[in-house]
Formats: sequence, structure tokens, C-alpha cells
Amino acid sequence: MNHVGFGYDLHRLRKEEGELLLATCAIPSPYVVEAHSDGDVLLHALSNALLSSVGEEDIGVYFPDTSSATLNMSSLEILEFSLAKVKEKGYILNNAVVCINLEKPKLLPYRKQIKEKLCQLLSLDDECVSIQATTGEKLGPIGNSEALCCYATVLVSKE
Ligand SMILES: [Zn+2]
Repeated sequence: MNHVGFGYDLHRLRKEEGELLLATCAIPSPYVVEAHSDGDVLLHALSNALLSSVGEEDIGVYFPDTSSATLNMSSLEILEFSLAKVKEKGYILNNAVVCINLEKPKLLPYRKQIKEKLCQLLSLDDECVSIQATTGEKLGPIGNSEALCCYATVLVSKE
């Protein structure tokens, strides 16, 4: 049996020289994320996709941003929790696709690094992970660098 999962996440950006965390990779950036946790938008979208694939609630339910327990928490913990839910229900992860929507910085120089990290975090081969990156074409909150967002899909299966 196959299940598709879908996830989405968005964070506000603030103009400040610093780093963006994408799948735990620190990317030099003229904007930083405003977030309750470490703001790893890619891992948040991916965790939502994993949870949704087995009919679970989203990360906002499990890790509310109003709770002091989740303040500055590592998004790796959220990903591990989500992977454990998939496993607990008897499913294995087949592949993952993520699409990051961000105006600046350009992600092309970092895509290989992000992909390798994601393969490692998900225990998936290179052909089972895809990282797409698009800009907002200078339109709307993404295009004006007021926010970045990420979409993710996964396929899980069980015998
Ligand atoms: Zn988030």
C-alpha cells in the first residue's frame, strides 16, 4: 500500500546578515528567519509531509509555537519525531521531493550540499531525493523577501 504525504511551511524573514538553516545546512544570507524554533523551513515542510502520509496531525499540533518547550528547539528533533511516526505505523519512506521558494540568496551553489544532507537524514539514495528551488519573481511576500516557504511531498509504503 502506498501513501502520498504533502507538507507546507512558511516563515517571515528579517533583513540581517546571517544564515538560513535548510535541512540543517547553514546558508549565508542577507535575511534571517523569524521563528520560535530554529526556523528550518525545509525540515518543517518535510515533517508535515511525513506526518500527513500516515494520517497524523501537523507539526503545529505536536510542537506548538506558543509553548516554551519548543523555544529554539532543533528541527532535527521534529524530523526524527515524524520519521518515527511513519515507522511506528509500519511504513517505510520511498522518496521525498521538496521545493524551496525563496528570493535571496540563490540556492544553486548549495543544492548539492542540501541534497546530500537530506539523503543522509532520511537514509535515502540520491535518486530518491529531489530539491527544487524557485524564486517569487520579485512578486508578493516571497518575491519581496518578507518570507520564505517550502513545499514537500513524500511517498511511503507498507507491505
Ligand atoms: Zn516552520
